[in-house]
Amino acid sequence: MSDLESPSTPRDVVVLGAGIIGLTSAVALAEAGHQVTLWTADDPADTTSARSAGVWSPIPQAPLDTTIAWASRTMRAFCDLSGRPGSGVSMLEGLTLDATDLGDLLPALSRLSPDLRPATPDELPEGFAHGRRYRVPVVDMEHYVPWMLDRLEAQGGKVRLQRVDSLDEALAMAPVVVNATGLAARDLAGDPTVRPLFCQYVVTDNPGLDRVLVDASRGGQWVSVIPHHDRVHLGGARVGGRTDPRPDRELASDVLRWCREIEPRLRNARTIRVDTGLLPTRPTMRVEAEARRDGLVVHAYGHATGGITVSWGAAADVVRLVAAG
Ligand SMILES: Cc1cc2nc3c(=O)[nH]c(=O)nc-3n(C[C@H](O)[C@H](O)[C@H](O)COP(=O)(O)OP(=O)(O)OC[C@H]3O[C@@H](n4cnc5c(N)ncnc54)[C@H](O)[C@@H]3O)c2cc1C
Repeated sequence: MSDLESPSTPRDVVVLGAGIIGLTSAVALAEAGHQVTLWTADDPADTTSARSAGVWSPIPQAPLDTTIAWASRTMRAFCDLSGRPGSGVSMLEGLTLDATDLGDLLPALSRLSPDLRPATPDELPEGFAHGRRYRVPVVDMEHYVPWMLDRLEAQGGKVRLQRVDSLDEALAMAPVVVNATGLAARDLAGDPTVRPLFCQYVVTDNPGLDRVLVDASRGGQWVSVIPHHDRVHLGGARVGGRTDPRPDRELASDVLRWCREIEPRLRNARTIRVDTGLLPTRPTMRVEAEARRDGLVVHAYGHATGGITVSWGAAADVVRLVAAG
């Protein structure tokens, strides 16, 4: 059993969605003693979450106190998992380049990173005067997703490829349903505040990089270099209002150019693919219980650009709401 609250009564739970929020919630619920079945419309290896660059990167989503608590809990969980064979989680060195010396103005979320300190001048690329060093969890989703599925199955959890047309369809099968359907929650929960945000990363082979590098000096457009063992994810381009999930070639070549400016070793890196996804944004992230005639629905969606970063915190709240309901 995990450190999450144990249930007063084990319950049958259907978790809808095998993205990072559904999968983490399913594992947390199963490890708290519930009987969990995970239903997903897509193969768990082919969700928006599975295409994520996998870096713990705190974004100030509303409500901010909740984001800080969830990101902090997730940081602890990933620190514990780092180096666990097969998990795909590792702690890497990180460097963020800033336009100015943020000093005491550094947001509370950024202060959650272990070993945070100002970068020394010799640690900065040419043309940059300000930056910060820290350590950061990086999750290789190609390994993490199957590892989490094994962890779920080890607790008796089951996984089923199954698309639903309504939440009541799942409630007919179990008294508790977790709605972690990402963007699809817009229709399933009748929530028009859920909107898509196009996100794109270019994936190249790895010319020997082992440090996360973020250029936060360009205003709204953050540029990030996220290394995994055999490849590097270069991003993180975002375009609001775009509903076409196909790769944007022009944006991809801009991102490659920006990344090569701050990390010259990428000059000869070969592009393997371009990963894209439509992220579920919402004015506030939602983890909330709804009592229905046929049972309890716990909604868990709207985690936008930071689903990996808040996953274990959001899952802990799902477990708490299921136990309370
Ligand atoms: C290219 C890219 C890079 C990213 N990098 C990062 C990063 O480095 N760090 C970070 O924190 N975040 C990152 N993100 C954001 C992160 O991926 C999202 O926050 C996250 O995917 C949201 O997860 P989710 O579980 O809510 O939704 P999803 O991953 O979209 O999962 C939704 C699930 O619901 C299922 N579903 C949908 N409809 C139905 C239905 N009708 N019936 C049954 N099942 C259904 C789907 O099949 C799927 O299993 C990135 C995203 C992209 C696209």
